[in-house]
Amino acid sequence: MNWVSEFQTAIKSIAALEEFFQSTFPKNNPYPIFLPLELAKKIRSHGIDSPLGKQFLPSNEEVHVQGGLVDPIGDLVHQVSSTKQLIHRYPNRALFLPTTTCPVICRFCFRKNELYETDGKFHDDFSHALEYLRSHPEIQELIFTGGDPFSLSTQKLQTYLEHFAQLSHIKYVRFHTRYPVIMPSRFLSDPNLLQLLRHHNQSTHQKILIAIHTNHLDEWGEEENTAAQKLKETGIELLSQTVLMKGINDHTKTLLHLFQHLIGQGIRPYYLHHPDTVKGAMHFSLTLSEGRMIYNDLRNHLPGWAIPHYVIDIPGGHGKVSAFNPETFDFSGNLITRQGQIKKLIDT
Ligand SMILES: *Cc1c(COP(=O)(O)O)cnc(C)c1O
Ligand code: SF4
Repeated sequence: MNWVSEFQTAIKSIAALEEFFQSTFPKNNPYPIFLPLELAKKIRSHGIDSPLGKQFLPSNEEVHVQGGLVDPIGDLVHQVSSTKQLIHRYPNRALFLPTTTCPVICRFCFRKNELYETDGKFHDDFSHALEYLRSHPEIQELIFTGGDPFSLSTQKLQTYLEHFAQLSHIKYVRFHTRYPVIMPSRFLSDPNLLQLLRHHNQSTHQKILIAIHTNHLDEWGEEENTAAQKLKETGIELLSQTVLMKGINDHTKTLLHLFQHLIGQGIRPYYLHHPDTVKGAMHFSLTLSEGRMIYNDLRNHLPGWAIPHYVIDIPGGHGKVSAFNPETFDFSGNLITRQGQIKKLIDT
């Protein structure tokens, strides 16, 4: 199926979801439903309570909205004042947000609180973003995010990339995306997109990197692998990012299987995110010490080059810090040994 039809035929209501899965789902769920059919079939084959199902199907737990934050990582603090399309937190790299549309609605994502909002953010005049970038030569990397940037048509992406290629100080263009594992047809049914990426990477001064958001090995089948291979063949550097979540991937083996698969595909594990405190997604959260135990154990099984950085976003726009080094966050006075034992740092 081509990707445009995938959007048109996606499941968009609780009724359609119940019909497809022959099951009941909560009717008072406050978040939108959007699930492409191909992904729905994959979920059905693994079961609705599988790690795949839990990531994408509405649940009763989402109705509990206490605890989390709407802007958990404080992006809005760093929004550029002249345009809502840019977030500039670190001097040498900036986020570019050209769309709120995603190929799916992940139930754990803080953006589910803002997806499809008609706040005008994404109809913002692009010239303001360009002007800002032009006057900030310290920005070396532009990071397309959203939403998911590959929700844009290839033609729109081309327009953006052509404009950015004029900026000599921008050396890297990065995309953060979930398409390769959610809707691989985005790449498989649109050779122009692959061609555009290849061209930009090879014929301009800007290198392209793509960070694929993937949380579980079950997200990967034949089509997804092929999509990754096609991207790889363009010469683009592929990275991954994974959100650590209770009930999805909070076991060493689960993560190990995922990362081993990724390195086999030539995708370098980049980030393992400690989950943000998201309204309506607190049921996926786990404690830092739980996360550290898992991460510590992973290090016994993977070489350094295949280990992602375990990071946490400090609420309020303070940025990402290592979640593993206890000195950088919530200093606890404890060390975790290679064997997974908690040791008091000051042992008298
Ligand atoms: C994560 C993030 C980036 C990119 O950071 P890297 O460490 O380079 O991946 C840039 N801007 C913001 C606001 C971010 O949250
Ligand atoms: S694709 Fe990414 S931005 Fe979109 S809902 Fe999923 S995690 Fe959030």
